[in-house]
Amino acid sequence: MKNFNELPISLEILRAINDLGYAEPTKIQQEAIPAILEGKDVLGKSHTGTGKTAAFGIPIIEKVQPNHKMCEALVICPTRELVLQVTNEFRKFSKYKEGVKIVPIYGGEPIERQIQLLKKGSAVIVGTPGRIMDHLRRRTIKLNATNMIVLDEADEMLNMGFKEDIEEILKSVPHENYQMILFSATMPSAILKITEQFQDNPLTIEIASKQRTIDTVNQVYYEIPKGKKFDALEILLQHYNANLTMIFTNTKKLVDELVDELNKKNIKAIGLHGDMKQQFRTRVFEQFKEGNYPILIATDVAARGIDVDNIELVINYDIPQDNEYYIHRVGRTGRAGKKGIAITLVTGNKQVKFIKDIAKYTKTNIAKQPLPSMEEMLESHKQLFINEVRDQLNENVSKTSFEIINQLLAEGYAIENIATALVAKSYQEPRFNFDVVEEQPIQKTKDMRMMKLSIGKKDKVSANHIICAISEESGLSSQIVGKVDIRDRFTLVEIDAKYIYKVVECMYECTIKGLPVYAGIDEKKHKKENSQRVKRNKTTEKKSPKKIRKKRK
Ligand code: ADP
Ligand code: MG
Repeated sequence: MKNFNELPISLEILRAINDLGYAEPTKIQQEAIPAILEGKDVLGKSHTGTGKTAAFGIPIIEKVQPNHKMCEALVICPTRELVLQVTNEFRKFSKYKEGVKIVPIYGGEPIERQIQLLKKGSAVIVGTPGRIMDHLRRRTIKLNATNMIVLDEADEMLNMGFKEDIEEILKSVPHENYQMILFSATMPSAILKITEQFQDNPLTIEIASKQRTIDTVNQVYYEIPKGKKFDALEILLQHYNANLTMIFTNTKKLVDELVDELNKKNIKAIGLHGDMKQQFRTRVFEQFKEGNYPILIATDVAARGIDVDNIELVINYDIPQDNEYYIHRVGRTGRAGKKGIAITLVTGNKQVKFIKDIAKYTKTNIAKQPLPSMEEMLESHKQLFINEVRDQLNENVSKTSFEIINQLLAEGYAIENIATALVAKSYQEPRFNFDVVEEQPIQKTKDMRMMKLSIGKKDKVSANHIICAISEESGLSSQIVGKVDIRDRFTLVEIDAKYIYKVVECMYECTIKGLPVYAGIDEKKHKKENSQRVKRNKTTEKKSPKKIRKKRK
């Protein structure tokens, strides 16, 4: 494997590359950098995440002359986000090469500001086709000195309808033999035509599928009944609990709808699509990158080329309309060799066939996965809560918190009881709609039996009191307790059948809230309120009343 310093690159730029932490050039960089330095035209086909920006960025920064005012290199990208991303990277490459001005131009920002910037010099201009055309018409950019042109994500620009603009820009360059570099994930005939017309015997570089981002991504699909996709989404978002998630839909309308629905459920999500004002889009994008909104919902066009590290999860809420779209979406995760997960929601046989075709086309394995079961979800929900509590344990605690706890302790409540009460107050059972979950073989739940206690609503006891008492009296974990059904004059408690005798024995003559309690096994399914009281068994050895659960001062 070649090293960057084996390529004919100056020390300033090698230093900048080193600062970026790139250990070795990617395949496309190995081939493209020397060719572009030599002045050759390049036609590069490679998938997202293979390091194309540096493949053309490094040689361009190498070649432009410092302090040159006129535009020497023009980079054309489909969206504002990409323009900014490419500009950023270029600036990093030129960190130690002084006097190289790189100016981004794009729609949605007052053109005057860009004109001011351009006046100060611009060796490299990075722009969207529309805004470049705009400046050309106003004569606020001149391409007289331009001898390098890059079309980045060329196929996407054609998809977006920029064909005429691009042709016009390319024709307006006076330089007779400018160097033209074209990168595209796919090579449809429209691209080949551009190549024929504007490139001169280009070096064609195609990166074999082995280096694709998609290969480091774990891909699965879920079959979801019609109309249940949102329920499934909610379940899967919690199940994967990813840091940053990108959700793809096929329409802008659905982007907005999903954002609304998720926000209603207190799940922080933000949307990105082409209809949004440019400035707003950048803000959205930053909010996502910084993790303020850890879920970004987008259409294909809006998300093109976006490079955010650490997207752990990609969800194809809609199955993509095209194989290549699938690759691009999935390529949002698993960037630069990192692990990622991509899941696709599939409805109906036609879509199942479609996802299988995608797997064939991409030569990857996309396995069918059952949705997590209700038990798994309840468990993971609980674990998330426990994690939150654990995190809180490491946080500073406010003065008021201390005052509250001290007051309760002073009133004589046991610390475990206070803690349990607090958990009961703040823990919310998840409200997932499990209709989506495929019928799973019914798991035999724990065998439970019923214990009846002679204490009820009239005694103002709570389930919390009772569960605490059981676990304290029996010394068993509260896990053995099932449902607690407090009636007016008695309470029915489900107990793991294995422990029922032990528990009843321990509870037989204890006190809860200072009240004597009798316990017994209840074999009937209680429906009626006035069922018989559990008789006290006179033959059992008498025990002295246990300590009072709620001490009074
Ligand atoms: P593409 O344009 O092919 O989708 P990018 O140029 O956006 O890919 O690069 C994808 C990611 O890989 C970026 O985060 C970039 O910083 C990183 N990267 C590029 N080249 C290298 C390299 N040689 N070593 C390590 N990381 C790299
Ligand atoms: Mg790119």
